[in-house]
Amino acid sequence: MKKMKSKVRASVGVIGGSGVYEIEGIQNLKEIKIKTPFGNPSDALIVGTVEGVNVAFLPRHGRGHTLLPSELNSRANIWALKSLGVEQIVSVSACGSLKEELPPRHFVIPDQLFDRTKSRPGSTFYGEGVVGHTPFANPYCSVLTDKVYGTAQSLGLPIHKGGAFVIIEGPNFSTKAESNVWRNQGFSIIGMTNLPEARLAREAEICYITVALVTDYDVWKEGEEVSVDKVVSTIHANVANVKKLIRAAVPHLGRERTCECASAAQYAIQTNPQYLNKKTLKKLELIVGKYVK
Ligand SMILES: [Zn+2]
Repeated sequence: MKKMKSKVRASVGVIGGSGVYEIEGIQNLKEIKIKTPFGNPSDALIVGTVEGVNVAFLPRHGRGHTLLPSELNSRANIWALKSLGVEQIVSVSACGSLKEELPPRHFVIPDQLFDRTKSRPGSTFYGEGVVGHTPFANPYCSVLTDKVYGTAQSLGLPIHKGGAFVIIEGPNFSTKAESNVWRNQGFSIIGMTNLPEARLAREAEICYITVALVTDYDVWKEGEEVSVDKVVSTIHANVANVKKLIRAAVPHLGRERTCECASAAQYAIQTNPQYLNKKTLKKLELIVGKYVK
C-alpha cells in the first residue's frame, strides 16, 4: 500500500483552498499520485522547489473543485504530505468575517479553532486497537504563524494575527441567527475547512497554520448582504494576494523546528503496550513509529 519508495521529498506543504490550484514560482515540478492506508488524497500532489526549499502542493477540493468540505479525506491528505517528509503546512481557506474590523480582502492567521462540524469521518489516525490522545490546546503553530505573518507584513498585505476560527459543517452558509451566535461568542471568522485537517496534522507532528482569506461579512451585517458578483471579485483579489504571500514565505520555511508540534505524539498513546493492535500499529508506523514498535 505505502508508496514510500519515491525519492521525491518535501519539507513544506501547501494546501490550497477555493481558487488556489497552483503555487507561483515553483520549479522542477513533479506530479505524484500517492496511495495511503487511509485511501486517496484529494488529488495528485505537485512537488517542486521554491528558492531551494522543497515544497508539496495539494489542492484541497481537487483540481476541478469536486469535493465538498464534508467529503474531504483529510487523513489521506495529511498522510500523503507526511509521507513526503513534510514538517510544516501552510493551508489556505476562504472565510467569512464575524468582526467589523476584519473586512473582505483582509487575511487572518487565527490562533484558535472551534469545532462545529457534525459528521466528518476520519478525524483521527487512532482507533482500531490503538488509543491516542494528542494535545490540541493551541491548534496552530505559533512559530510558523510568526514567519508567515512577518512575510505578509513585509509585502504590505492587510493581515491580522490571532482570533478564533469557527468551523461549520456546511455546505450551506449560516442563518443570521447562527451567525449572530458566533459573533456573540467572540469568534473572529467562520469557514468549513481546517477540521479535521488541523487535528490530523497535530497527530502527525506537522506544524500547521491557516491563512484565512476574508470573502464577506458572513450574513450578520445589515446592509452588507452577500452579492455573488462582489464575492467573486473579492475571491480573485484574495487568491492573487495569497499566491504572492506563499511565493514569498516558502523560502523562509522548512528549517529545523523549535516548537512543540515536533513531539506532539510522544505521549499520545494510552493503550497498554501488550494490548496494542499490531496491524493498526503497522498502519500508523509513519505517524507514531518512532515512539512505539
Ligand atoms: Zn510547530
